[in-house]
Amino acid sequence: MDENNVVREFSFKEYMGPPELLPHVSFTRKGTHFCIYCGGRSDTREHAPSRVFLRRPYPEDLRVLPACKKCNNGFSDDELYTEVYIDAMKYISGRSNAINDENKERIYKNKAFLDAQRDFVAYCDGKELPTNIKISKVLTKLAVCHCVYELSEGYSTDIWEATPVSVKYTFAFDMPKLERDAFDYFIPMMDKKLPIIGSRVYNKLYVLEAVLQEFRGDNQIKQQFVVMNWTDVQDGEYKYVAWIEKDETMHVRMVIHDFLYAEIVFREK
Ligand SMILES: [Zn+2]
Repeated sequence: MDENNVVREFSFKEYMGPPELLPHVSFTRKGTHFCIYCGGRSDTREHAPSRVFLRRPYPEDLRVLPACKKCNNGFSDDELYTEVYIDAMKYISGRSNAINDENKERIYKNKAFLDAQRDFVAYCDGKELPTNIKISKVLTKLAVCHCVYELSEGYSTDIWEATPVSVKYTFAFDMPKLERDAFDYFIPMMDKKLPIIGSRVYNKLYVLEAVLQEFRGDNQIKQQFVVMNWTDVQDGEYKYVAWIEKDETMHVRMVIHDFLYAEIVFREK
């Protein structure tokens, strides 16, 4: 097809918010952009989430954000560690029957695999799962990406940055099904703060209508709810949702490989 004939549809994925935020929340090939993590000049694009958490073939429209080379590369080792740890934990706890790597010998000797094994054995002995610093660091980093991309908030500048108030995560085997279902549900927005107009997250807002029928009679009451839906980056591998509470805290929930459940809370300082 002639490229000139392609009809470009209106896309909510495009950032439509205040232009002064554009260099912080969008990556383009031209212009000056700022690293979402340190606020410095950005010279690379950061995939959000990183491809290490996804399987091939990767989704076509992976989100990208501006980042400097130093920050972008600074997370790679910990991201690989986190991915191997999650995968190992899934395998050791019996939630998958294979390690996601052809070279199993190498993985079995990997530090992340051994750490996951040690933590799961301790868990089976009745101990709590420890909070792993590398995993917390990676989850915080991923949450920053989702906050910036969806809410146009949480990027770093010279004068302010978002600080994590809490980083919590656990695994499917440590969460009853009811709790997982509640975690997975839409986020009701009635009591939340709406993000900056034009932020990409508006694509994820839905109005649900509930019809309440009188038990003995014909009366009906219709009630509408605004909810925030999850972003499914890759089915069964990675999804997230981000929102802002009335107290200005920013919340990001992530589910990785249908197995790790995380919630990160930020506040701007
Ligand atoms: Zn940076």
